Amino acid sequence: MDTKSFIKKFATHPNYKSPTGNILHAKSWQTEAPLRMFLNNLDNEVAEDPSNLVVYGGSGQAARNRDSVEKIIDVLLNLEDDESLLIQSGKPVGKVRTHSQAPRVLIANSNLVPEWANWEHFEKLKEDGLMMYGQMTAGSWIYIGTQGILQGTYETFAACANKHFGGSLKGKLLVSGGLGGMGGAQPLAATMAGATFLGADIDPERIEKRLKTGYIDKMTDSYEEARDWVLQAKDRGMNVSVGLVSDIGDLLEKLLEDDIIPEILTDQTSAHDPVFGYVPNGMSLSDAYCLRKNDQAEYKKLSLTSMARHVSLMLEMKSRGSITFDYGNNLREFARQGGEVDAFSFNGFVPDYIRPLFCEGKGPFRWAALSGDPEDIYTTDRALIEAFPDNKDMISWLKQAKEKIQFQGLPCRICWLGMGEREKAGIIFNDLVKQGKVSAPIAIGRDHLDCGSVASPNRETEGMIDGSDAVSDWPLLNLMSNTAGGATWVSFHHGGGVGMGYSQHAGMVVLVDGTERAEKCIKRVLHNDPAMGVFRHSDAGYDIAKEHSKKFNLDI
Ligand code: NAD
Repeated sequence: MDTKSFIKKFATHPNYKSPTGNILHAKSWQTEAPLRMFLNNLDNEVAEDPSNLVVYGGSGQAARNRDSVEKIIDVLLNLEDDESLLIQSGKPVGKVRTHSQAPRVLIANSNLVPEWANWEHFEKLKEDGLMMYGQMTAGSWIYIGTQGILQGTYETFAACANKHFGGSLKGKLLVSGGLGGMGGAQPLAATMAGATFLGADIDPERIEKRLKTGYIDKMTDSYEEARDWVLQAKDRGMNVSVGLVSDIGDLLEKLLEDDIIPEILTDQTSAHDPVFGYVPNGMSLSDAYCLRKNDQAEYKKLSLTSMARHVSLMLEMKSRGSITFDYGNNLREFARQGGEVDAFSFNGFVPDYIRPLFCEGKGPFRWAALSGDPEDIYTTDRALIEAFPDNKDMISWLKQAKEKIQFQGLPCRICWLGMGEREKAGIIFNDLVKQGKVSAPIAIGRDHLDCGSVASPNRETEGMIDGSDAVSDWPLLNLMSNTAGGATWVSFHHGGGVGMGYSQHAGMVVLVDGTERAEKCIKRVLHNDPAMGVFRHSDAGYDIAKEHSKKFNLDI
């Protein structure tokens, strides 16, 4: 199929769809895989706003503009196995000579020299058409819809249950803000962990999307109705989730007035971007869009003040008994800038719940069935259950996931796996492809929020015991290891999760196409990638990581 016909069929803006089946459109699966995953990122079922090429996380894009989309498609359709495409902030800028085990796409998104690394400078460049915001998996083409964050969120809530509530959230109320691309995983993760959930989002369309995909049970714009629903459910120990159309600060204020103190409190509004993400208190959505266009300085001021109010209400809840944590959106930093001096009086979720997993090289391993056939994912689920019979948490997750998760776009699965486990899973999947037990190749990747791939002092690397929170040599080493090891595409981004100036992180995807070439790449990449988490945490002095370093012969 020539490029024009391909675009007409799969990429007529804003209707993007990945091809499915096992017939190639590109010259090999090494280039078909990034092509399919790129289009999948923009699929209406997957992306939050395909008409603006926005995938998730505020303004996280898959490509810079429509010309770039078409050019990326054209190059990938024609790329040879000894060439690699270069992407600079969502724009294809050239091809370099490489070899068959090298990455086919090399991506750098949103990177700025530290002194200039702020939203103001970035927005100016964006306006001039020179950059785009890649978030984490938006610009690196491995976003898999809300499921991607679901297991991580479930792990966090389950860890919170183990730490504070004897392992069960039955009869406990969990309150949060933001039901967008990532935040929309909270209601389902909370109910899977047994809790009653109440979440606020200012945008009704976002909650409707969660209703449609089965991530939330009920929706209302009446505070009283939402309150009564959740109190009743909580009393009966029912795991029900409710989405309220409201500003999150207003919801917290009303709950406090009614003396309703949730057992757990967090937030996933798009606070990382005070201008194009967070909506200031008291403002309608249409007024917010208007002010964003006309006076960004005024918008930012209002946004920071609202975040300060929001966090002060969270602090009040905390003082009255809520287990309160920041959920990785940099809310505390912007609340501090807005005048809440005690904003950092509660912790982020990583030091509280996730770091012990990072020390074992565990993180958000995910894969997509390029065939588009859900049966392929169920086959991989069964293969993992068979291969890891002692991993009860993983087995319980995979069973619940099969039952409760509707696929968005290409069928995908996420499952947190650690050092040793990821490589084993990759080899098993490669055998499944080789033996024809799945109907087309599989793409294995992960979030940039992983054990050794990110420096983000207000999130993944908050409160490291050796004080190395801001050292970003680690994600660069991760990028270099995955490039040298032969991932199929690699990426290095700035500002994901927490916004410009606050994070640097690397991504990778490796193709599983049943070949010997793939097996070699898998054995290197899926060993090196989690090993980076063990190196990073062992070097920082964490005992669990030191033990894992010994166990896997990683000591030098
Ligand atoms: P998103 O832009 O898709 O959704 C954000 C939602 O917040 C929107 O629906 C918006 O309407 C809502 N919102 C904004 N201001 C509000 C307010 N005042 N009151 C109520 N609702 C409001 O973003 P997303 O992908 O869901 O990500 C949310 C945040 O979580 C981002 O900051 C992102 O960087 C961060 N994040 C966290 C993790 C993690 O693991 N914890 C992972 C990825 C992203």
